[in-house]
Amino acid sequence: MVSFVLPEELQMLRDNLRRYVDNEMIPVEMESVDGDEFRPGFQTRFQDGMKKLGLWMMDVPEEFGGPGLGLLAKSVVWSELGRTIAIPAREDQITGPTVRSILYSLQGEMREKYLLPVLRGEKRACFAQTEPDAGSDPASMRTTAVRDGDHYVINGVKRYITGAGKSDFMQLMAATDRSLGSRGGISCFLVDMNTPGVKLGARYQTMMGDRPWEIVLEDVRVPASHLVGGEGKGFTLAQKWLGAGRVKHGARAIGVAERALEMATSYAKQRVTFGKPLSDRQGIQWKLADMYMELEVGRLLVWRAASLIDEGQEARVEAYHCKYYCDEMAFRAIDTCMQIHGGLGLMKDMPIERMWRQQRSYRITEGASEVMRTVIARHVLKAF
Ligand SMILES: Cc1cc2nc3c(=O)[nH]c(=O)nc-3n(C[C@H](O)[C@H](O)[C@H](O)COP(=O)(O)OP(=O)(O)OC[C@H]3O[C@@H](n4cnc5c(N)ncnc54)[C@H](O)[C@@H]3O)c2cc1C
Repeated sequence: MVSFVLPEELQMLRDNLRRYVDNEMIPVEMESVDGDEFRPGFQTRFQDGMKKLGLWMMDVPEEFGGPGLGLLAKSVVWSELGRTIAIPAREDQITGPTVRSILYSLQGEMREKYLLPVLRGEKRACFAQTEPDAGSDPASMRTTAVRDGDHYVINGVKRYITGAGKSDFMQLMAATDRSLGSRGGISCFLVDMNTPGVKLGARYQTMMGDRPWEIVLEDVRVPASHLVGGEGKGFTLAQKWLGAGRVKHGARAIGVAERALEMATSYAKQRVTFGKPLSDRQGIQWKLADMYMELEVGRLLVWRAASLIDEGQEARVEAYHCKYYCDEMAFRAIDTCMQIHGGLGLMKDMPIERMWRQQRSYRITEGASEVMRTVIARHVLKAF
């Protein structure tokens, strides 16, 4: 059942991790990252910290060597790590491999070749779905996979693919029947990046520092055994992973909003204008009150969705609430924090502007806010 208070063991986990973030990460957060990479030494240092806290491989199921954390526990971790910008956008760089659920469905030789090396840290994978003409609406993708004997021949272009340049293989979404679209027309293939016909194209520069890639596929021959989950099942497999990712977005956003509130409150108490601290002004107090209240609402949404999923209950719409509400709420929070800091909030030697840029991007990536609202609206129109 959903609770308004965290179980005692998760409160302890949160407190221990908060101490680590406050003492070991926040003091070095302005120097630990360069673009989308760690500066030398920091990744190992933080990984060691996570190992000591029992959080190494936290996103890996127990049967594959992970600590067996549920989604509520993981949400607590993502929220705490969300309070700092000491890590480039992906927390898995310090908490061990995050494997999309697609790979856990592999069996036999495919499991040996793809899943296990990723879990051991020997191979890296990227997820290639977005295309120039298919972002929010991936079912309209133009990349095709055509069966040819015991192979598929794949042609198309993928865009904005994170980590493609360092990946050994990609989890590629391609249309096996364009007329069916999301209803059985999209399939998932595992494609080695060194397969003839796979080329890295443009590398994009983003305002957050992430540098995703374009991937061009020209007559790429992939063995039929590299089709995952059967023809036409790709979309369902991808959506399953993206569903858990929506709760993660919400959880991380809670951390961003909490840090924004901490910084905004602390500065408002110190900064004196017209003879009084900002915190004495009702205009500023109301901003802080709204930030706090919205943060608490978001936290409950995340705990509810995570608890329902941990209990094996249906929580599709609740997961959408997390991504939409919390990513928007955290952006409002960091934006208000920036406003309260005045010119100081715009300075590059403060964490605020980087948190602002990063949080702005989450309103677009992995499901833009408008798409989240569309799904929620569909639910509302049915339910009321
Ligand atoms: C840094 C970065 C990393 C990424 N990494 C990956 C990756 O690893 N793998 C991958 O596959 N993709 C990746 N993406 C792609 C990302 O998921 C897409 O950019 C995102 O899904 C939005 O698609 P789009 O850019 O084509 O926007 P569009 O789909 O063109 O949407 C444009 C705008 O219109 C809105 N909109 C669209 N449809 C509607 C509608 N029906 N009603 C109202 N509004 C609508 C959208 O919400 C958005 O605001 C990445 C993107 C970035 C920027």
